[in-house]
Amino acid sequence: MGTPTQNPYRLLPSVDEVLGTEEIAAFARRCPRELLSAFVADVIERWRAEIRAGELDADRLSERLGRGDLARAIGSRVDREEKSGCVRVVNAAGVVLHTGLGRAPVHIDAARAMEEAARSYVTLEVDRFSGRRNQRDDRLAELLARLTGGETGIAVNNNAAAVLLLLNTFAQGKETIVSRGELVEIGGSFRMPDVMERAGTKLVEVGTTNRTRLVDYRRAAGSAAGLLLKVHTSNFRMRGFTEETTAQELAELGHELGVPSAFDLGSGLFEVEGAHQLDALLGGEPLVRDAVSSGVDVVTFSGDKLLGGPQAGLLVGKREALQTMRANPLYRALRLDKVTIAGLERTLALYLAGRADEIPSRAMLLATPESLEPEARAIARELERSSGLEVEVVLDASQPGSGSAPDVFLPSPVVRLRSKTRSAEELAALLRHGDPPVFARIHEDRLILDPRTLLPGDRERLLQAFRALS
Ligand SMILES: *Cc1c(COP(=O)(O)O)cnc(C)c1O
Repeated sequence: MGTPTQNPYRLLPSVDEVLGTEEIAAFARRCPRELLSAFVADVIERWRAEIRAGELDADRLSERLGRGDLARAIGSRVDREEKSGCVRVVNAAGVVLHTGLGRAPVHIDAARAMEEAARSYVTLEVDRFSGRRNQRDDRLAELLARLTGGETGIAVNNNAAAVLLLLNTFAQGKETIVSRGELVEIGGSFRMPDVMERAGTKLVEVGTTNRTRLVDYRRAAGSAAGLLLKVHTSNFRMRGFTEETTAQELAELGHELGVPSAFDLGSGLFEVEGAHQLDALLGGEPLVRDAVSSGVDVVTFSGDKLLGGPQAGLLVGKREALQTMRANPLYRALRLDKVTIAGLERTLALYLAGRADEIPSRAMLLATPESLEPEARAIARELERSSGLEVEVVLDASQPGSGSAPDVFLPSPVVRLRSKTRSAEELAALLRHGDPPVFARIHEDRLILDPRTLLPGDRERLLQAFRALS
């Protein structure tokens, strides 16, 4: 033990000394040496700062060293390093298409197809029957046409890319006419006006925030008009004294003036035979098929919102318009990789096979409070056993998420928790840091676990995470 007069700085080991100890050297197997040495230097520096601030004296320092605090601190840095990045989590937050958690978890068949494609050579740009070169999204185009009634389709990286390709192809150096009420900002800084600028088109806003009539578009569409665009206000709803021009009216005006028309649907919902209808449940979310049959030249939507597939942007509509977009060099920069194509093809095939309701995000949206109740009760029962938690099952509401159906809440029985020792924020943070990480939501200083967004096996993962807490 040090005496009060001992100089604490002299007790601090050097980085090399620490790296030379057996305990720390063992971490070198899990972590590059330079990084390990940076972690060591960091911890020592932090302790040095504590000494400087008068918060750490020689006694307390030698106590720490004796307890092995240094190795523990470095161990937790190495741990954190290993667990950083994109790892599996349990979504108990009740937001089905949670952008922060990767939106739609794909169907197991799609996941298997994606794994297979990733690990092997595939028929990406070759037709196995003729042996000839083809386009990588030819098959997707066919599936999309069957599902949507469009003549053909294109698939790109995401819907933002789809909109960029659309605007750049038809309205570069020209004007894009869009309703003032539809200039949406999607989370993650996708702002329609900014995308337009990058696409090289001039934005012409028509109408007022709450009312836009066909005559407004007609007046604005002069000789410089390149595109008439309708955007689904997917992440907000306007109520009251509102009026919007329909896609069909816009398409007709486009034909009359010889200007292409397009509809950015955002989410894009399919209703197919053999599957439940989601549109009513989602507050009248527009259907891709209806948008296509309105007659606009191009309809764009996401692959990983309501469709429930991997991240992608899909464009469907008139063959001529889509061929023009495909010929744009930008398409080459925005196109999909083999893994996503394989996953999307399988996802669309599930729709065509009448198996759409098996797609996890759709199944989650369709789950009824009655079907979720046993899951909530089972989780509550297990958690009740752990001391320090007050547990109850109450009726609450989940959300579709991803800006889809912003004012729609789906009634769900949830597990509401109160810890006797920790705030809801603390508990939520511990669960996020845990293994596996769990994301829950907080409401009125209670932690809410929503069974709607749990995948098979997640209940056990969730309970394991709680067991690790106590
Ligand atoms: C979500 C959304 C986008 C962006 O789609 P991503 O697939 O996220 O790139 C564009 N437009 C609308 C209307 C949307 O809702």
